[in-house]
Amino acid sequence: MGEFELIRRFFLRPPAAGVELGVGDDCAVLAPTPGARWLVSSDMLVEGRHFLSTVDPGRLGHKALAVNLSDLAACGATPRGFTLAMALPRVDEAWLAGFSAGLWALADASGCPLIGGDTTQGPLNLCITVFGEAPAGQALLRRGARPGDEVWVSGRLGDARLALEVFRGTVTLEGRGFDAARVAMECPTPRLALGQALRGIATAAIDVSDGLLGDLGHILAASGVGARLDADALPRSAVLAAQPVELQRTCVLAGGDDYELVFTAPPGARLPDVGVALTRVGVIEVEPGLRVVDARGERVDHGLRSFDHFKP
Ligand code: ADP
Ligand code: MG
Repeated sequence: MGEFELIRRFFLRPPAAGVELGVGDDCAVLAPTPGARWLVSSDMLVEGRHFLSTVDPGRLGHKALAVNLSDLAACGATPRGFTLAMALPRVDEAWLAGFSAGLWALADASGCPLIGGDTTQGPLNLCITVFGEAPAGQALLRRGARPGDEVWVSGRLGDARLALEVFRGTVTLEGRGFDAARVAMECPTPRLALGQALRGIATAAIDVSDGLLGDLGHILAASGVGARLDADALPRSAVLAAQPVELQRTCVLAGGDDYELVFTAPPGARLPDVGVALTRVGVIEVEPGLRVVDARGERVDHGLRSFDHFKP
């Protein structure tokens, strides 16, 4: 199978609503909604770095798009389409069928059609760019947190890191507990409905991809504020809550790959109910820096750092 046959078989579909021209020409053509702004983001997944070579291709297809949609969610954007640039070591039809099925399933569920891409031979590498929209002036950014705002987290944190530790061999977990943690790691759910519902309510937002400490730190730096964070209030699964406290803290504070939203909102704000649990985990303060405390208000000396590709 050649390059164009591969694209036709796995990545070409009839044009989606809202797309004037999709896969097949030199460019895709999209019409912006009057009064809206484009929000654009790219994320690359590299084999051995972001995923294990043994991962199920359907889950990989889901995750490659999910991590990108999570950035749109963090900005309160509505997805409009995405491009897929991929390097493949060889044409493996069974792998491509699984990968594209996982990708299309999430694309359909999110109203985010594939509108183009690039396909080359090389070490397995997947780069997606998502295009979304939000009304002018309403995108959720990192820079709007104010002293007195409360800090909120969606869903649960730490399960993806717990599963990673099982793969690394530092934790033993079996049966359903492991399956659930593994789904969190391999099949994250981008919080698109929540992000859109937070427009005009949240003062700042970010998605947790590298670990809560670092990602919340980005909000604090961009907003010129500090925060107090209650480590014991951070939402976690029953499986994680059954692990030693040190491991729990590592997973919820610095785990990464969570793809939950962290946002700030003024006290008393009416938060949307989109079927995702929201937990208040801290408060924004004038004093710069992030102070992690336990349920009794005592400082937690965690010594943890979020993930950074270029720091050991
Ligand atoms: P060009 O050489 O003009 O860049 P290509 O030959 O790379 O075009 O791609 C042909 C068409 O197929 C283009 O519309 C491109 O957007 C699309 N395409 C290529 N690879 C992919 C892919 N992996 N997924 C979706 N569309 C793709
Ligand atoms: Mg090309």
